[in-house]
Amino acid sequence: MFHFDNSYAQLPDRFYAAVYPEPVEGPVLLKFNEALAAELGIEADLSDPARLAEVFAGNVVPSGAMPIAMAYAGHQFGNFSPKLGDGRAILLGEVVDAKGRRRDIQLKGAGPTPFSRRGDGRAALGPVLREYLVSEAMASLGIPATRALAAVATGEAVQREQLMPGAVFVRVAASHVRVGTFQFFAAKGDDEGVKLLADYVIDRHYPELKDRPNPYLAMLETVALRQAELIARWMGIGFIHGVMNTDNMTISGETIDFGPCAFLDEYDPAKVFSSIDQAGRYAYRNQPGIGQWNMARLAECLLPLLDADEEKAVEAANAVLKIFGEHFQAEWLSVFRAKLGLAGEEAGDAELVQALLGAMQEAEADFTLAFRLLAHAAEGRDEAFLALFPDQQKATAFLATWRERLSREDQPATALAATMRSVNPAVIPRNHRVEEAIAAALNGDIGVFHQLLQALEKPFEELPEFASYMLPPQVEERVAQTFCGT
Ligand code: AMP
Ligand code: MG
Repeated sequence: MFHFDNSYAQLPDRFYAAVYPEPVEGPVLLKFNEALAAELGIEADLSDPARLAEVFAGNVVPSGAMPIAMAYAGHQFGNFSPKLGDGRAILLGEVVDAKGRRRDIQLKGAGPTPFSRRGDGRAALGPVLREYLVSEAMASLGIPATRALAAVATGEAVQREQLMPGAVFVRVAASHVRVGTFQFFAAKGDDEGVKLLADYVIDRHYPELKDRPNPYLAMLETVALRQAELIARWMGIGFIHGVMNTDNMTISGETIDFGPCAFLDEYDPAKVFSSIDQAGRYAYRNQPGIGQWNMARLAECLLPLLDADEEKAVEAANAVLKIFGEHFQAEWLSVFRAKLGLAGEEAGDAELVQALLGAMQEAEADFTLAFRLLAHAAEGRDEAFLALFPDQQKATAFLATWRERLSREDQPATALAATMRSVNPAVIPRNHRVEEAIAAALNGDIGVFHQLLQALEKPFEELPEFASYMLPPQVEERVAQTFCGT
């Protein structure tokens, strides 16, 4: 069924624990991503969903799989844990996709591993559906993220705040190597482990760096650039990751771990949804700073590889962290320039963006809708956009400056509006819709989830059948908090 070609399992024993999934009582296939399966060269017999459910629940281990739980460490909310690891995830193996890219196939919630500590190794249905919806939405929005191959109900209950139906999520990733994977070896003083991992990463993700004078420094820099770009893209769609611990930051540059993530409704840069993020460490506006902090942790791990002279190694690492900041600023500006429909670059562009964001914050305007409706204004229809601002003074002033700026670009209005609509989504996985889909599924109705998933497929189009998904929550629908609920 899978054409496995496993490389991580070839690394030394201390990189992982070999462990088989623990079979579940009554697996039922909830969703299977046929398009992704085709991309991955998976031969699935769709006429036999029961068989697919058994494979994706871990009851039947397909031939060629080498199930392992990966070892990693990580800073969680700033505190270092030397041993985290896959406590409820099992890597079945790797396949090489149609484009020649190596991808991991991982079962999340497939039973305990040597890294489970006090956890049960299981996942609850709610978080599985959330990850399915949000990771697929990210893909449709064009933002690097791990993907959803399948979701399976286990037929078993898991104990969380209350008993919940269990599920397994099948995750596909460019790899599951995280900043925390490097930390695992570095914290033990295992320099050889760090080097083996770095060589593995360069081979797998960044082979073009092999010829650089210092491939390890080049790798650090490339990872930093990818992360800076990724976070800028998150900011552009109002995404709040919610748990940017170093074990939740990939080396590939993909978004990973959709636990307490959420999207901005009304624009508030200090917004935090996660119930466990009391201090607001991972607030919307803190994400770039945290990204840089996480890159500093990666850099620390790599110091011995950067230069034999420690002082020079630290200097090189600091230069990369500086580049992270500069690159983030540049990417952020380019994301928001595009959102405003600006093709060229002018000195005052950042202020122009800030003027809009300032007006949105004061008005508590819906983030997604404000940018989407700005495309109407590009066609001379200001009403819907302005209606988001109870006091229109700042918004009106912004429109005037924006028009003056646009007048120097000379784009026809219809083309401009179309370009803006191609970067400012109409449909995002709004928190209240995600919650609604989960609540319905817990009530036995998976149809709401399927419908939402479909609505998220073409986020830049305004399809009449999905019109309601564009609407912000009514006051009483607003989601105040999200829960890890692992
Ligand atoms: P996360 O919050 O998903 O990033 O997970 C942090 C750590 O907790 C990782 O080492 C996970 O494998 C582990 N973990 C989370 N949930 C469970 C669970 N239900 N059983 C065992 N380990 C878990
Ligand atoms: Mg994690």
